[in-house]
Amino acid sequence: MMNKAYVVIIGGGVTGCSIAYNLAKKGIKDIIVLERKYLSYGATGRCGAGIRQQWGTHQNCILSTESIKIFENMNEILQTKRDIELKQKGYLLLAYSEKELKQFKKNIEIQHEHNIPSTLVTPEEAKEIVPMLNTENIIGGAFCPTDGHANPFLVNQAYADAAKRLGVKFIKAEALGIKKKESKIIGVETNKGFIETTRVVNAAGSWSKEIGSMVGIDLPVYSEVHEILATEPVKPILNPMVMSFSHNFYCQQTPHGSFIMGMSPIEKVKDVSWQFLERMTKKISTLLPPTKNLRIVRQWSGYYNISPDKQPIVCESEEIEGFYMAIGFSGHGFMLSPAVGILMSNIILKEKLQWDVTLDIGRFKRKEIIEEPSVV
Ligand SMILES: Cc1cc2nc3c(=O)[nH]c(=O)nc-3n(C[C@H](O)[C@H](O)[C@H](O)COP(=O)(O)OP(=O)(O)OC[C@H]3O[C@@H](n4cnc5c(N)ncnc54)[C@H](O)[C@@H]3O)c2cc1C
Repeated sequence: MMNKAYVVIIGGGVTGCSIAYNLAKKGIKDIIVLERKYLSYGATGRCGAGIRQQWGTHQNCILSTESIKIFENMNEILQTKRDIELKQKGYLLLAYSEKELKQFKKNIEIQHEHNIPSTLVTPEEAKEIVPMLNTENIIGGAFCPTDGHANPFLVNQAYADAAKRLGVKFIKAEALGIKKKESKIIGVETNKGFIETTRVVNAAGSWSKEIGSMVGIDLPVYSEVHEILATEPVKPILNPMVMSFSHNFYCQQTPHGSFIMGMSPIEKVKDVSWQFLERMTKKISTLLPPTKNLRIVRQWSGYYNISPDKQPIVCESEEIEGFYMAIGFSGHGFMLSPAVGILMSNIILKEKLQWDVTLDIGRFKRKEIIEEPSVV
């Protein structure tokens, strides 16, 4: 095993691989990605695959629009072996109350400042977009035609392959501890030996808090189990992702024909549950009645790593020199991963940030927090 590196990235999910690729692309040598299981083992391989620009904060609008530009050209940029299955058929967000509709209006004003082509829609217009939609109790919605989804496994693999071609080393090993001298990183202890380095990136998703504790920092994030299921594939009948914040669910049909749908937990669960299966199927078969007869082929769970303002934390630690983190994606880290990889490369290489965003951990102490209002 290599025992010296310019930087060690802990986590082979989409975030860690995007960071590795973006650093290597700028000519950095001796980059190691440590992954204790396999690529996409964490939230990346368990996610709903959605990519949307309909956010309620400027930062998330910037990160998502910049990421979409990269997703749109990812096959060429990363020279992928397989198409990443980007499907841009929109996101239809449903409003069940005046309060929700008012929030959508507010969000759209912000989105338009970033040239996001979102619009408010009436229930009738929503039905035109999704003909099988049962509009009962729906008072309106928002729609952005360039939102959509892509295949997270293929995106994660594409970043890893492109990074490898640029010389990044992927090591199947677990980070067990991080060594520092005074307040500087000096290396990472793994189950395969010690790696000398002055830079560590915490891209460990739901395990990021444990990585923080390895350097004695209590990171302000927590992990929460979210459940999701997939049905048998059927002919294409649903174009956009359909989502509701107040009812906490999302549903999309992949290019392969399977429906993928998920809901936020009502009570705390440790893994998959019957309650989710019952609630999810009841909800979706009422909303999209033709889905009633679909057979479910798989149900699984994964963790959201949640930050206090539901926006990512991407920065160097204020306390430990050389300790970087890209964490707290709060259920939207897949879609932001292209921009996050670039930002982390800016931070590590002490460059000016490519976009005007404030994602440092100090914002919580400074109380400069604008909470993202539109999350599932
Ligand atoms: C059910 C569900 C639905 C979601 N839907 C969406 C969606 O529609 N759109 C969207 O954008 N996002 C969605 N997300 C969120 C998204 O999946 C995550 O934000 C994103 O995948 C995070 O990627 P990551 O690389 O940061 O973390 P992960 O993919 O979790 O990767 C972290 C990796 O670190 C490794 N690791 C941890 N500790 C160590 C260690 N000590 N040593 C070595 N390796 C270690 C793990 O094995 C893991 O592979 C969803 C998440 C879930 C759970």
